[in-house]
Amino acid sequence: TWSQVPLAPPDSIFKLSAAYKDDTFPNKVNLGVGAYRDDDNKPWVLPVVKKATKILLEDPNLDHEYLPITGLPSYTTAAAKLILGEDSPAIASGRVSSAQTISGTGANHLGALFLSRFYQFNGDKKVYLSDPTWVNHFAIFRNVGIDPLTYPYYDPKTIGLAFGAFLDTLKSLPERSAVLLHACAHNPTGVDPSREQWGQICDVFLAKGHYAFFDCAYQGFASGDLDNDAWAVREFVRREVPLLVCQSFAKNAGLYGERVGALHIVAPTVETAGRVKSQLSVLTRSEISNPPAYGARIVSLILNNPELFDEWKRDIKTMAGRIIQMRKELYKLLTEELKTPGNWDHIINQIGMFSFTGISPDQSQALVEKAHVYLTQNGRISMAGLNSHNVRYFAESLDRAVRG
Ligand code: PMP
Repeated sequence: TWSQVPLAPPDSIFKLSAAYKDDTFPNKVNLGVGAYRDDDNKPWVLPVVKKATKILLEDPNLDHEYLPITGLPSYTTAAAKLILGEDSPAIASGRVSSAQTISGTGANHLGALFLSRFYQFNGDKKVYLSDPTWVNHFAIFRNVGIDPLTYPYYDPKTIGLAFGAFLDTLKSLPERSAVLLHACAHNPTGVDPSREQWGQICDVFLAKGHYAFFDCAYQGFASGDLDNDAWAVREFVRREVPLLVCQSFAKNAGLYGERVGALHIVAPTVETAGRVKSQLSVLTRSEISNPPAYGARIVSLILNNPELFDEWKRDIKTMAGRIIQMRKELYKLLTEELKTPGNWDHIINQIGMFSFTGISPDQSQALVEKAHVYLTQNGRISMAGLNSHNVRYFAESLDRAVRG
């Protein structure tokens, strides 16, 4: 048995982390990891999460019963408001079907599965992903029998958005195509459309009847403001583009391991929303029976208590602010001090946890091998891996790699 099973290659990000861990060089730097680190390169438990955990564990009525199949209602309701807005017309009219999921990955999976079962595809089952995108998107859609294709997104020449090609492709796709959009803080590039550009993207979605599959893994991480980062999603809802949103609390609440996420499907009518929800329940039942309670309870406490909610917003500003500070310091070192060849404006223009540096695979390789700076081959760096102690070492190493 199993002699026919081929050996799969290890996941490249996890492989990178393992190589970093094994490296004994004292000044090694890990820029591969997609998790927030504080200025001492330590994981950061948000103070608000500590408080909410204490409240939760001191509750004499806390039990360990199953949650409902579609999750903790106080959590999913508040989570929907967080992404769609307190005054969302879709929520007010009862058109949002929400289900708690295994973090953002589970939300993407459930959304993809729902589409695979129920979306009226124009021909074969296909989804269009940004080129590049979070690599897991490909496997998630393939797993449910949807063929992942790509649309142009990133322009290596400008290290920015390939807006013209992106828009032209959206226009040329068959009507009613399913298109995945990163709601904010695009992974891996850190390049987001401007509001004006989102408006034009929205125009094409409406004209062509495309379906918007929003993935929102970084709300709050782009600008430090939760509402600001939800702008594109809310604009699409306001303009009545058919859509769903995948939501994760891994990054913005630092609850990576608790797997707290949600899928929200906005339906055209209350009656449709009821039918959609019934099917989300059936799908969830067969896959996980019901979602895990612990993380959802913590997030529910934070979202439903005004004091904790305000504190959470401050914690998010701390994380986003430190990342923005690192962008500024790196930019200053490269442009003013080291005068590294090339244009580095993208370091401060890009958004969120990640930055596409624009360096070649060879230069990335040199950084890993010669400087003990760990990053993916595509030149993506996690800004959260930089801090006041290592930013200079990184800038000097990058400078050396660029000069060859
Ligand atoms: N979508 C994107 C674009 C991501 O970058 C990530 C995290 N790397 C996720 C979804 C899902 O993360 P999680 O399952 O940890 O919430």
